[in-house]
Amino acid sequence: MLSVTHLTLQDVHHILDLAADLEAEPVLSRAQRLLKRRVALLFYESSTRTRTSFELAAKSLGADTVLVSALSSSIEKGESLKDTGITLRALGAECIILRHPSSGAPYLLAQATQLPILNAGDGIHEHPSQALLDLRTILTRRLGAKQAQSATAQTLAGLTITIVGDIFHSRVARSNALLLPRLGARVVLCGPEPLLPESAAAIGPNLVIDRNLDRALAQSDVVMMLRIQKERLSGLRLDLEDYIARYQLDAARLAAHAPKALVLHPGPMIRGLELTSEVADGPQSAVAEQVHHGLAIRMALLARALEATKTSTNKTKATVKTVKKSTRR
Ligand code: ASP
Repeated sequence: MLSVTHLTLQDVHHILDLAADLEAEPVLSRAQRLLKRRVALLFYESSTRTRTSFELAAKSLGADTVLVSALSSSIEKGESLKDTGITLRALGAECIILRHPSSGAPYLLAQATQLPILNAGDGIHEHPSQALLDLRTILTRRLGAKQAQSATAQTLAGLTITIVGDIFHSRVARSNALLLPRLGARVVLCGPEPLLPESAAAIGPNLVIDRNLDRALAQSDVVMMLRIQKERLSGLRLDLEDYIARYQLDAARLAAHAPKALVLHPGPMIRGLELTSEVADGPQSAVAEQVHHGLAIRMALLARALEATKTSTNKTKATVKTVKKSTRR
């Protein structure tokens, strides 16, 4: 699971379906699914939501988890990603969840370890699980919980989703811009030139750029606000006062141009910059729901990642049962 582009619509449908099943499954039976399987979380960048929800997701499926973060491990001493991956595999890791500042790092890790790798955010490239949890949030809010499993080329037809802010440095924006139009959504990208080059419209089909927030809001069913990725600006200087004046989502703007739109944010939110507290805590905000959906989506991604080896585990279990039966006789 390195990029949303690797998923067919059928895969997306399957992930949404599995997420719903796992969420509804009784806790004890769910905990048998990946019982004692080993999942490693390898984090070279800080994280709150993604790390915690992947860890809780793995644990609620019964897996054992181990966290390796850049500080406090041999990474600090200069060990390469490849060697760290090989070490984790030698210790029995069956799947690695990776967050890394370099775009493409998960591909290298997949190649070096031949293990299933779940991309938990790589540089400015992608954040596939975030796009899937955003999709689940949109579907649940717009189509209702029952239809939230549907993923066809028409599922989001008629919906306009506007992504606002630092599109260029945002892996969340890229994964969403690659995924949502495939389900029929019209995606509007909105931001100033340095954070949204004209070429961004070429990320995928059905994308348009509108640099005027009020005009973009007026067309929107969903507005996704983004944090300015200050750790990735590489010396780029922004006039924050001007940015706030043109792109901050405040209550007056929302009420005037998009009083019914759903407001999303992947977090962490910088209140007072890309949006105000009034909007973040307001009735149109689905930020906490996004976090909630992250757990179910990540359970599904883990179950799916370890599925391939499940058949052999089942066979082993079946053999153990047969052996036990024959000894009883
Ligand atoms: N948490 C998201 C990410 O890791 C968004 C952000 O950091 O602004 O990409």
